[in-house]
Amino acid sequence: MKQNETLSNIHLNEDNKLVLTENMIDEMGDNHILTSVDTPLRADAFELSDEKKIAKIETHFRAIMETLGLDLADDSLNGTPKRVAKMYVKEIFQGLNPENMPRVALFENKYKYNEMLVEKNISFYSNCEHHFVPIIGKAHVAYISNGKVIGLSKLNRLVDYFAKRPQVQERLTMQIGKKLQEVLETEDVAIVIDAKHLCVSSRGVKDDTSTTITAFYGGAFTDEKKKSEFLKYLEFNTKF
Ligand SMILES: [Zn+2]
Repeated sequence: MKQNETLSNIHLNEDNKLVLTENMIDEMGDNHILTSVDTPLRADAFELSDEKKIAKIETHFRAIMETLGLDLADDSLNGTPKRVAKMYVKEIFQGLNPENMPRVALFENKYKYNEMLVEKNISFYSNCEHHFVPIIGKAHVAYISNGKVIGLSKLNRLVDYFAKRPQVQERLTMQIGKKLQEVLETEDVAIVIDAKHLCVSSRGVKDDTSTTITAFYGGAFTDEKKKSEFLKYLEFNTKF
């Protein structure tokens, strides 16, 4: 029923592009539907310098605050537009810019360790691209060396880089998985992400207890035995 309702709302514009109605936009946001593995970026995404972006966002954010009726002359609010603009460009959305991709050095696997390596409980903070509120989660990453190894902290940095974009959890999971396969030159990569979406807990259905789990299994990890070995390691609860 829902499906038909949505289909009957489809409109095409003169260029034959899909026009989303307000209902469809709400539904897309609340169902967290993603449209592609790559973050949808415009061709001119990096033509403006960071400084110009900050100045532009500052103006727009000031307009949002003023529209909400806030008095920007108040000392406490005065610096907020600039602060938010800087935070967007230099911190929480800096992973949009490929220039900020962590440099990943690979090392020879001299000790010939050929079991899986698991780095679990990598904390990350991201933001839902449908509501621009936080996604807080843990990523668990595993790979089996194909002759190369990566510095452990680089796994954290790669997770962080992809998290620092407006995101959808499925896409975040796939982007990390595919990038690791590329840099490690192996298909044998697995990722599990367990995250809490503030757009689900603090608004909308207001469910404070649910978390969302997504997974990526490549190469050897598509084998049930390897997959369950990886998942078993995630159950270990070592206290340090
Ligand atoms: Zn959301």
